[in-house]
Amino acid sequence: MTLIPRDWLPACSMKRVICHWTAGGYKATSLDRAHYHILIEDDGNLVRGTHSIADNVSTGDGVYAAHTRGCNTGSIGVTVCCMAGAQAQPFQPGSYPMTQKQWETMAQVVAELCRFYEIPVTPQTVLGHGEVETYLGIPQHGKWDPMVLPWSPGMSRTQVGNHLRALVQKALSGGDTPETPSPATLQVAGKSFPVVLLNEAAYVAIRPLAESLGWTIKSATGGQVKVQAEDRVLTLASTLVGGKGHVACRDLAQALGLAIEWDASTRTITIG
Ligand SMILES: [Zn+2]
Repeated sequence: MTLIPRDWLPACSMKRVICHWTAGGYKATSLDRAHYHILIEDDGNLVRGTHSIADNVSTGDGVYAAHTRGCNTGSIGVTVCCMAGAQAQPFQPGSYPMTQKQWETMAQVVAELCRFYEIPVTPQTVLGHGEVETYLGIPQHGKWDPMVLPWSPGMSRTQVGNHLRALVQKALSGGDTPETPSPATLQVAGKSFPVVLLNEAAYVAIRPLAESLGWTIKSATGGQVKVQAEDRVLTLASTLVGGKGHVACRDLAQALGLAIEWDASTRTITIG
């Protein structure tokens, strides 16, 4: 199961994910939304920030989510909404302590970002705001988010950072969620369709594709579908995925007599 809606993930090149807490309450405010790309409320609900991730590809135009001093270019900002009134020394979590649900959801969200943007899980590329000074050498004036876990305040900041990366790594290796489909998109005739990757091949649901392109399904039986595409009839092998008939993108391209291309950076297959 993926948590981040596909349309929150623009195709662009990003270098790292920096994790924060808002030092606010449990709900995302409009001010918070201006500073982070993805916000996680107390119950694990995700809220999209006002800036697209693509706004942080370059920051020279001043239009971007400003979440980390001197380190916003190429950086995705993820935050948990919590920790208003928290104090570092001696540690006081305040009235809105980070919940375990928020922490675990953040690890899952970061894993999905790493998978989509092909970001490796290292202390330089997946880190807390409170680790930026240590690992990237950019001063952060005492920022310590989100490096203390209120349910385990004895852990050192190093341990918390390593724990976050271990959770991300575990979510990426997907031991208990093998059904997670790789997010990918098929582009055909200027329209986009979600793709399922199975055994190294890409499949697309044929009925929504046909309807969207103004084609007609003439028949669908026994692993074969016949589609009226403008003035010709395409005969394609079909496979059931999640109860819906899917055809291989490669077969579709071949039947249409068009070229097919895979762009790994944007995870897009283009026919045409
Ligand atoms: Zn921060």
